Formats: sequence, structure tokens, C-alpha cells
Amino acid sequence: MRTRDALYIDGRWTPSSGDRTVKIVNPATEAVFATVPEATAEDVDRAVRAARGAFPQWSTTTVDTRTELLTRLRDALAGRQEEIATTVSAEMGAPMTVARQVQAGLPLAVLGSYVGLLPSQPFEETIGNSLVIREPVGVVGAITPWNYPLHQIMCKVAPALAAGCTVVLKPSELAPLSAFLLADAAADAGLPAGVLNVVSGTGSAGEAITAHPDVDMISFTGSVRTGRRIGEVAAATVKRVTLELGGKSANVILSDVDGDQLRRVVESGLYYAFFNSGQTCTAWTRMVVPAALHEEVLSLAASACESYSTGDPRDEATRLGPLVSGPQRERVRRYIRTGIEEGARMVVGGKEPPDGLARGFYVRPTIFGDVTSSMTVAQEEIFGPVLCVLSYADEEEALSIANDTIYGLSGGVWSADTEHAVAFARRMRTGQVTVNGGKYNVQAPFGGVKQSGHGRELGLYGLAEYLDTKSLQL
Ligand code: NAD
Repeated sequence: MRTRDALYIDGRWTPSSGDRTVKIVNPATEAVFATVPEATAEDVDRAVRAARGAFPQWSTTTVDTRTELLTRLRDALAGRQEEIATTVSAEMGAPMTVARQVQAGLPLAVLGSYVGLLPSQPFEETIGNSLVIREPVGVVGAITPWNYPLHQIMCKVAPALAAGCTVVLKPSELAPLSAFLLADAAADAGLPAGVLNVVSGTGSAGEAITAHPDVDMISFTGSVRTGRRIGEVAAATVKRVTLELGGKSANVILSDVDGDQLRRVVESGLYYAFFNSGQTCTAWTRMVVPAALHEEVLSLAASACESYSTGDPRDEATRLGPLVSGPQRERVRRYIRTGIEEGARMVVGGKEPPDGLARGFYVRPTIFGDVTSSMTVAQEEIFGPVLCVLSYADEEEALSIANDTIYGLSGGVWSADTEHAVAFARRMRTGQVTVNGGKYNVQAPFGGVKQSGHGRELGLYGLAEYLDTKSLQL
């Protein structure tokens, strides 16, 4: 975990043309522990030229060569797994258990999945008298957020490189350090110069990538506000754009769930709402329950909440670390205040810092009951450990509540009858639904509908985003 004083451009560590740096703050201590260069538009231009220069050769490598290099990249990253976990935990506050398992483990699983699927991909097919060739899109600008920093990077870099694209990566200014570890691993793995370039910096570096005429595609994960801006700027050069944006996902408990199953379902719901301190785009922030079960659900949720020990991310017993930053903590506290003002019933939590945690960007895990769909806390993405419980009279109302936001990224549905749950899931307007707790699949397409964005990541669907088709009529 260290300060970085250079950008990774064309296979070399290159100082920025400017002299500004970005400070990296540990959210558990509020102390600056590292700095990275703040890339200028000139640095971005150099990185894009490097990626453009590397494209002709990289795009024509064989599948075997790319598979071999991605395997070496995976091995080089695997050797850094503990360093990745401690680094990501320090920069964005994930408890070490989450950092090991998800922040470090998941990117390796994603990269591994592309190593596995690439060799069997037919990049050509025959349709009638045509030969259809799938070609890499070109130079990809990858712009990523801070909440699962290396995972979100890998969801772009792995399929882009597998497809034969070259990449200019701009990680989040709040959590950029794992991108530097990725560049170290790329150098160790012998990835050819210019194939992967890393420019750290703020939104203005991201905007310079988006506007650059020599970038063919932007793959973005982040907020709706930035996604809109990226769409506008990219339109000037008619770039391909994929957007993975926010969410306000509904976790619907159908009326046949009861007894011990209800307790387990509520515990799972809380887990998916609070994981990573609620800083998850797919978090199930709205629990939608039958009116008859509302009080029982609230009491089960409140007692499950007691096990969410909040504190130092390095402590193995911690389940909730701090939020990423001071502004993020303020935003979450503001929403807690708004929920109370709008008449939601706060069952546990509150806007005061948790006991004994005045330093660090901590908030209390908070549960609201009696939430209605028109309330701000039921509509806007809070991005903290705040669960809203809404009740419904019948299944049609449950569906209309579930679909009643501008988002459509994720969701859950539970029933004693799986067929019934699947039928309900089909009617939810969202990119993915977990049915009765089905487990996460790194090969299944991931992405949103409505204002959660467009495009898909992971597996074959993720690879397809980085390919264009060309038809030769023979
Ligand atoms: P953000 O939009 O503030 O920043 C994301 C990235 O965009 C950062 O690298 C930032 O520097 C860059 N950026 C900012 N302004 C830019 C501009 N004008 N042009 C180009 N790039 C610019 O988001 P954040 O706060 O880092 O992340 C939180 C958001 O991300 C939440 O809304 C969350 O739901 C969303 N998210 C979505 C997914 C998903 O897969 N759908 C996953 C994780 C997070």
C-alpha cells in the first residue's frame, strides 16, 4: 500500500505532465495514507495514443495468445490477493472478511471465467453466403467507481482484452490503488506495452477520455448523473457506450412465506441490503412484504440487525465498516433525517454516529417501517446501510411497488413455491432477480434496465459488448 507517483502508459511508469495529486483517505481513520497523480488531458491523450498504437497488433493476436496472457495476468494478480484486500479495505473501508472474499476474490473469479470461456469462442460464423466476423471494437475507455473498485475494473478490462481491444482505465479518485496493483500485475504478466493503460485522476480525466476522438467505446460504472453526462459527451463522436448505473432494488416476500422460512428470508434480505455497508448498486434496499406480516418482519429485521457489528474494518468480527467518505456519510444521514420527516417509522438506527465511533465515516445501520412508495427514501438511491420496509395488500400491488422507481438493476423474490416466485420475477422490470436466494453467477449477464443503464457485463454477454460484426458477402 503505497503512494504512486506515475501513471501506467505504454507499458512504462510515466510521470504526469501536471503536478497535481489526489489524496487517498482511509475512511476508518480519516487520515490521508497515499497520493496518486491527477492525470491531465495531455496524460489522457498520451494514454489513448498508446492504446491506439497497440491496437493493430493486439487485435490480431490469436485467441491462444490472449488466453495465455490473461492466464498470466490472473496468476500475477493471485499472488497479490492479500495486498489487494488490505489496500481496498484501507481506501474504501470494507471489512477485511468482505475485502478478501469479494474485493480481492471476485475480480480473480471474473478474470478466470474469461480465461475459461475464451478458447471456445467462435469469432466467425457463416450466414447464407456471408462470412460474419466478430472484431474488437477498438480503444476502450473504462471509467469505474469506488465501491467494488477492482471488481468493476475487471468486469471491463477482462472482456475488453479478451475481445482484442486495448484499454485506457480511469479508476475512481476515491479508491484508485487496486488499479495500480493491476498495472503491476500486467507488467509482470508481460502484457504488451499500450494494451492496458492506467490514468488516475478525477472526473475531468474521465471526461477527457470520453471526449477523445480516438477512443471507440466508453464502458462506465457509476452514478446516473455521471452516466448522463458521459452519454452526452460521447455522442459528439458517436462512441459506443455501456452504462452500469444506480439501483433501488426491491426484495419481494410473497405471502406464502412464513414461520422459520420468514426469519431466514428477512435475514437474507438484510444481508443483501447491508453488504459492503449498503454501498452496493444491487443492494436490496426496499423490502416489500405482505401487510399482514409487516410487524413481524420489522421485529425479525430489528433483531437480525443486532449482529451487524460496526467498527474497524481490520477487526475480523466487524460486519459493517465506515462509509467511503465524509460527503457520503452526510448524504446517508440526510436521507435518514428525510425518512423521519416524511413519516417513516425508524425501528433501529438513526443519524447519530454509532457509539464510540465519532472518528471515521461510520453510520448506524437503520431500518424504516411504514414506508410508502412515494417517500424519498423509497425512490432515491441512498448507498448506505438503510433498509426500507414497504407493505402491500395483494400481489399486483407488490409488483407495482417493485417496479415503481426510475431504476431496474436487481431484485429478489421469495416464495414457498419456486414456480410462483419465477412467475413473479418475470414481471419485474429489472436486469436480474435472485429467486429464493439463488447464488451469484459470474457467467450470468449483469446490468440494468430503465435508468440503471444499458449494456451487460460478465460472461459471454459481457464479451459481446466489446465486439463489432463485419459481414463479407461471398
Ligand atoms: P460517480 O459517477 O461519481 O463516479 C464514477 C466514475 O466516474 C469515477 O471514476 C469518476 O471520477 C468518473 N467521473 C466523474 N465525472 C465524470 C465525467 N464528467 N466524465 C467522465 N467520468 C467522470 O460514481 P461513484 O460515486 O464513484 O459510484 C457510486 C455510484 O455508482 C452509485 O450510484 C452506484 O449505484 C453506482 N454503481 C453502479 C454499479 C453497476 O454495476 N450498475 C456498480 C457499482 C456502483
